[in-house]
Amino acid sequence: MTDLLLRGVQLADGSHRDLALRGELLVDPADLGPGHRTVAADGLIGLPGLVDLHTHLRQPGGEDAETVASGTRAAARGGYTACFAMANTDPVADTAEAVSHLAELGRREGWAEVVPVGAITKGLAGQELAELGLMHRAGVNLFSDDGRCVQNAQVMRRALEYVSDFGGVLAQHSQDDDLAGPTACCHESAIGGRLGLPPWPAAAESVIVARDIELARLTGGRLHVCHVSSAESVELIRWAKARQLPVTAEVTPHHLLLGTAELEGYDTTYKVNPPLRTDEHIEALRQGLVDGVIDAVATDHAPHTPEDKDHPFDVARPGMIGLEQALAVVIETMVASGRLDWSGLVERMSTAPARIGRVADRQGRPLEPGQPANLVLIDPSRRQVVDRAASWSQARNNPYHGRDLPDPVLATFWRGRATYGWDNL
Ligand SMILES: [Zn+2]
Repeated sequence: MTDLLLRGVQLADGSHRDLALRGELLVDPADLGPGHRTVAADGLIGLPGLVDLHTHLRQPGGEDAETVASGTRAAARGGYTACFAMANTDPVADTAEAVSHLAELGRREGWAEVVPVGAITKGLAGQELAELGLMHRAGVNLFSDDGRCVQNAQVMRRALEYVSDFGGVLAQHSQDDDLAGPTACCHESAIGGRLGLPPWPAAAESVIVARDIELARLTGGRLHVCHVSSAESVELIRWAKARQLPVTAEVTPHHLLLGTAELEGYDTTYKVNPPLRTDEHIEALRQGLVDGVIDAVATDHAPHTPEDKDHPFDVARPGMIGLEQALAVVIETMVASGRLDWSGLVERMSTAPARIGRVADRQGRPLEPGQPANLVLIDPSRRQVVDRAASWSQARNNPYHGRDLPDPVLATFWRGRATYGWDNL
């Protein structure tokens, strides 16, 4: 690893500084040796490495769609230095052995830190609690059955009680299976009726959010609401936060940018769970993110093979990739419009996710001497027309294909190592 001096970097607060990287750390520029490389970084912005609370890396069991290596390369391309790897793999990550194996795979093959998420219930079946305590001892703090929602309120209550003993967090995929069953795939609305697609009403999400907020109040256990997609959910979380309940929430880049109109052509790339919704919901999500009601942006990066997607709309697998364009979408929807400044973006894409996921000792740190050298160097004025064929992810289900978006990431450093873009400097 070459020592590196980045001269004149603009930080999120608008100040300018020389950033010195030596080994895995940021150091005082005066402490760099004589052999270091110097890069003029005038006009570039340096941000703490992004942290994604919600990534599907698909390994083990889904390596034809994505692997730890390919998924974390996509993460590095998008400016991320950490990914929380969801538990709905095959086999499910519901034991200490499984999460330890994934963490080890991440250390060996990852281009970003891989933080395993443990399942809440065995096999994601929603019945019996998984080895929550043993997984915690193996380093897990965030638990989720994502892909599925814990339907049984008593199981959810017990899980919240269990993890509150060690400060764990339950990340819930909020979807009432009776209101939005396995074929539900289109926001319940006029367009859904016209297209003849099975309805996924916003209430199927918010009834679970309301229930879980009450369970968080009852137990004191920490609830994190995954991929909030409706205005009603935002209002419920706002209500919970006003009462200081232990509730946090995330929104995806695709729910901030894309709406039901994308479904007109029945392109299964736009099938996602929860579904894309209408303008009033999109606006509520953006405002919730501005207000801090929604704490974080998380990608729900969900790689699929073409075979998984090559079906009629109501049968195709839900999910879209997002790691490489997440920062671009947040810049486009929130920063370019003046609704978030760079500090606000850093809070929602790095600091808050690191705090919620309990990795704030090493991720989401300020860019100061003595801190781990986890950072992304961006030029927000660069743009590109997204080409899914150029993706660093193995998957091609990219909902931004053909769209003109910012292309901000010049280089990403994880523990001092350039995981993306060394040649761009
Ligand atoms: Zn989900």
